[in-house]
Amino acid sequence: MLRVAVVGSGPSGVYTTQELLRQSRVPEVRVHVLDRLPTPYGLVRYGVAPDHEKIKSLQSSLRTVLEDDRITFAGHVEAGGSGGVSPARLKELYHAVVYCVGAAADRPLSVPGEGLPGSLSATEFVSWYSAHPDAAAGDFALLARSAVVIGVGNVAVDVARMLARGAAELRGTDVPRAALDMLGASRVREVHLVGRRGPSAARFTTKELRELGALPRARIIVDGAELALDPAYAAAAGAGEPLPAVVRRNLDVLRGWAGAPPQAAADGERRIRLRFFLRPVELLERQGRVAGVRFARTAPDGSGGVRDTGEHEDVEAQLVLRAVGYRGTPLPGLPFDPVHGTVPHVAGRVVRDGRTSPGEYVAGWIKRGPTGVIGSNRSCAKETVASLVEDAPLLVGREVPADPLAVLRDQGLRPVEWDGWLSIERAESALGRSLGRGRVKIPDWSGLLDAARGGP
Ligand code: NAP
Repeated sequence: MLRVAVVGSGPSGVYTTQELLRQSRVPEVRVHVLDRLPTPYGLVRYGVAPDHEKIKSLQSSLRTVLEDDRITFAGHVEAGGSGGVSPARLKELYHAVVYCVGAAADRPLSVPGEGLPGSLSATEFVSWYSAHPDAAAGDFALLARSAVVIGVGNVAVDVARMLARGAAELRGTDVPRAALDMLGASRVREVHLVGRRGPSAARFTTKELRELGALPRARIIVDGAELALDPAYAAAAGAGEPLPAVVRRNLDVLRGWAGAPPQAAADGERRIRLRFFLRPVELLERQGRVAGVRFARTAPDGSGGVRDTGEHEDVEAQLVLRAVGYRGTPLPGLPFDPVHGTVPHVAGRVVRDGRTSPGEYVAGWIKRGPTGVIGSNRSCAKETVASLVEDAPLLVGREVPADPLAVLRDQGLRPVEWDGWLSIERAESALGRSLGRGRVKIPDWSGLLDAARGGP
């Protein structure tokens, strides 16, 4: 029997587990899916925006995998860290360990003023409205009238959309109480979504971009002159220019918005301004809080990048969300490549001191960096599991404990197993009912652990 630990129960961890179960070359396999949190599903629960119900519903297919008899979910078990189980110990307890721990940190912007109150990473903001138990409480949405979102990827689009939605639109989602109240009372009327390069270099996908235009109370404002600075934009307007399909579609959507006739502002309307060729150079301060962003105006440099033009533009904002990408963090006891924020590997096999380390693997964002959509994790998991299965005959000969979780319990850990998670789900449904809503997420550690253990 091959005993495997998969660390992380987000999409990459679950797809890795599913791939292991599918392997006919490993007839007998048992997988323990460990997670630092008492809840499964990683970024599907704590990253996918609450109003993206269709993507959220992926949870039901992830659930089918985790409910297989050969799988044990063990939440509230951290790998590495001070109170956690070290990679060395995990290696003793299992024939193979696959780390699917994602990219938990945000990439820094590295400009003066980044740390001012009112300036947040998108990760912090997303964690707050997703009820992540490590999220800090925030009053940011209430205070601001104008918000700047730096970056033009899908995370930037998510946070801009959440700022533009009102309580009525979010009541039907699982957004936690405090975030719903605050977003409902928010006075934000202007959301500036700002890219340092041109529209053809934006990282958002067309479906996500179009969704902004479908928001009930928001108007999208795009400056055609700013679009026209991009050589690809001009080329796309002509016939037959070979551009990647996503770029062409995005440019078409932007062209439609830029060409819309100006309208008088409606009552309570929120304006989302898509801006390009503006590189953030400093966050401006007033009375100890962020008051705006100073941008350097850029222009195409002829090779896909930009150069500064020497001009500047200040945009007023009492809330600044930095959505410039995620970054992997080192897991103590595992090798780490600080340049890419990933664990060095060959086809998913962890590389230690220049050699692959039998029995240790990676998949997902910690393997390939924070790019791609959820489905990208499938092929990534396939590659890793193929390596593991190739190594399995060597690994399976070593004696390991029949019940590694009992060993961990003896060490003082109190894993939350599947029944505990089901109790959390029931408690979240009860909380929602008491508020006249559907299921509502429990936002704090003690609430989650009490619920997992059948408490209040
Ligand atoms: P991303 O796609 O890498 O976008 C990051 C953005 O930040 C880019 O516009 C980038 O511009 C900009 N940026 C980076 N450094 C900057 C700096 N110093 N100053 C100004 N701008 C800077 O990252 P993401 O939005 O965090 O998304 C991560 C992954 O999750 C992506 O693969 C995304 O598609 C996925 N995701 C998908 C969904 C969905 O499908 N609905 C939702 C959320 C996330 P440059 O291009 O110039 O570097």
